Amino acid sequence: MKSKHANAFSIVVCMCLTASCLTGCKSKGAEASAAPFMSSVATPPPQVADEPPAPEKTGGFDGKRAFAHVAKQVSFGPRPSGSPAIAQVQEYLLSELKSYGCTVETDAFSSDTPIGRLPMKNILVKIPGEKPGVILLGTHYDTLLKENFVGADDGGSSTALMLELARLLCPQHGKYAVWIAFFDGEEAMKQWSDSDSRYGSRQMAARFSTSGDIKKIRAFLLADIVGGRKAYFPRESSSNPALVDLVWNTAAKLGYSTLFVNESASAEDDHDSFMKRGVPAVDVIGDFVNNGYWHTPQDALDKISPKTLAIVGHVFLESIKQLQAR
Ligand SMILES: [Zn+2]
Repeated sequence: MKSKHANAFSIVVCMCLTASCLTGCKSKGAEASAAPFMSSVATPPPQVADEPPAPEKTGGFDGKRAFAHVAKQVSFGPRPSGSPAIAQVQEYLLSELKSYGCTVETDAFSSDTPIGRLPMKNILVKIPGEKPGVILLGTHYDTLLKENFVGADDGGSSTALMLELARLLCPQHGKYAVWIAFFDGEEAMKQWSDSDSRYGSRQMAARFSTSGDIKKIRAFLLADIVGGRKAYFPRESSSNPALVDLVWNTAAKLGYSTLFVNESASAEDDHDSFMKRGVPAVDVIGDFVNNGYWHTPQDALDKISPKTLAIVGHVFLESIKQLQAR
């Protein structure tokens, strides 16, 4: 995942990206259920402090639905690229997105990684607009290749957020198109580097460059690690400053300044793949260095808050409205 993260107080280099702590790909506990999603997810009741606001208070975003999407992903077990469990996530994403009436494209490709050639798949929702121009949203849905790592927050939360946004946005038509990218292969297979990480977003950005679509993207809003019960969001310092201002000002207007804080931190993430090609992008990413469970087996469902998901979802919806009004 991200190799560095600096804030006003510390610069921390990733602690657990050695070969010794990255053991093999084990897909455990992947009892696939064919039942419809709401009834198939055993969702533990959130604690009172994590009770989300009613959806009408967060632009329609349903924190409980988003939480259930995290629970469903976690139920598949560890979901690294190329694993049987990630194929279950792909099926789940496609079936949910189609049930919302979304138009969905998939790009199956393979990547040479330090552990061999791996099959990967990007999933892209395309909601048409009236004028040329695209607002791109994104998440990665793979999880770190590490024993017993289920990535409830790192991989699960932002993917759940994007599913819930897709449910709300697919029936709408705005001035500009909205595309929602679900990237495979964000995590490093051995050690985070430019060549071992962000496989899916690099693939999509390269394809968009070839097709010319890259020039249509007016803004790219990336989410990652957005569901923590104690989450807060520093301004990501490599992101486009105007987009950071737009998102953080929107959060402040909505009354979420305690979560969207004014300190800054830097993270390497999927936005880099697009920024390198000239796309203005912002990474909304929780302070993972200090959350106490990043890239450990403790990144499990008990760390996730439906309330945090609802707040971030609300901020995304309002930020998209701002971008649509430009
Ligand atoms: Zn990660």
